[in-house]
Amino acid sequence: MQSRCCAATPLNSTGFAERVLQKARPELSFAARVVRNEHPANHSCRLLILFTAPFRHAILIDVTASTLDTPTSFQQPDSTRIEKRVLLLKPRGFCAGVVRAIDVVKIALETFGAPIYVRKEIVHNRFVVNELAEKGAIFVDDIDQVPAGMRVIYSAHGVSPAVRNRSKERKLKVIDATCPLVTKVHVEAVKFAKQGYSLVLIGHRDHDEIEGTLGEAPDVTTVVSSAKEVETLEVPDPNRVAYLTQTTLSLDEARDIIQALKEKFPNIIGPHSQDICYATENRQTAVKNVAHNADLVLVVGSNNSSNSNRLVEVSQNLSTRSYLIENSDAIVPEWLEGVATVAVTAGASAPEVLVEDVVAYLRDRGFGSVEEVEVMPENVRFGLPPEIVQAIQSAPATSAASV
Ligand code: SF4
Repeated sequence: MQSRCCAATPLNSTGFAERVLQKARPELSFAARVVRNEHPANHSCRLLILFTAPFRHAILIDVTASTLDTPTSFQQPDSTRIEKRVLLLKPRGFCAGVVRAIDVVKIALETFGAPIYVRKEIVHNRFVVNELAEKGAIFVDDIDQVPAGMRVIYSAHGVSPAVRNRSKERKLKVIDATCPLVTKVHVEAVKFAKQGYSLVLIGHRDHDEIEGTLGEAPDVTTVVSSAKEVETLEVPDPNRVAYLTQTTLSLDEARDIIQALKEKFPNIIGPHSQDICYATENRQTAVKNVAHNADLVLVVGSNNSSNSNRLVEVSQNLSTRSYLIENSDAIVPEWLEGVATVAVTAGASAPEVLVEDVVAYLRDRGFGSVEEVEVMPENVRFGLPPEIVQAIQSAPATSAASV
């Protein structure tokens, strides 16, 4: 027998090995487990025995199938082993609007120099905001916090006309990094209001984007966040109602609210194309396609990121456990107990470096297989705002080259 073990045993399961060892050496108190079984061709196996009282030490034992009494049972798979894997969803992370907004701040800093003021978080991600703050961006909540005459950037979520007017009064040099898909919703709001429609804006009241869109036509706009709120909605003329939505809503939730609106106001009209943006839709579709193959879905994103929160909800609605995490530090080890497959995605404002950090964390905990699952291709880019294009064109050659 090649083993240094006192018991020759078919090691088809830890429990079996324990029983045999207990029979051979009943005076020992121990726990045993198979730690490696990587040579199925020659039926070799390695058994780790952890002796407890009275010995308090461990022995690593190699056993080969040639010494085993019943090699056929040894060949059976170890039911206690779990093949742990990560499914990395694609598309995930930065969308075109976020890339553009971050580029705007970086280029402005390089072209004009620090400080550059930014109204609100440029995108809803703490890591991104901290990184830009270190380069010289100053983030403020209110336009009145920007010193008169200074340069200010509006965030990707957009601003209301009241903010634009206040900037003019204070002679601020404005660079507008509002995502073009948010601007589209603003334009629709102005158009419907001019045509005499009452406007129902579907979205979350406390979100920066809703604050900006609502400001386009505050007198005729009502914000609605759920189908239930539609029940009590009152408008001057039920035959002249239009709806718009926030760009980062749950597609399913928005559909239910729009359905409730159509039942209440059969003549209601909406935008020509849906306001929920391509990035929000694609990331939700990816989760819908993969969640049923996962035991756990981790969404990288900040707490105040609307589209990231929606990804968690999409997964939970499919009965797959899901958590929103800022980075790997937020992962609770107990979440991974008994989990074989973790799907990882990221909200539209979460940088890839944080996704890599989460994947590295999972690798360190035995999730050795990482498979990227591309649900659909995504290749959208937005041009820079005219203020930035002009600044680049008129900047000295060295400065322009560096961006
Ligand atoms: S999530 Fe959509 S609307 Fe928001 S910045 Fe990205 S592309 Fe624009």
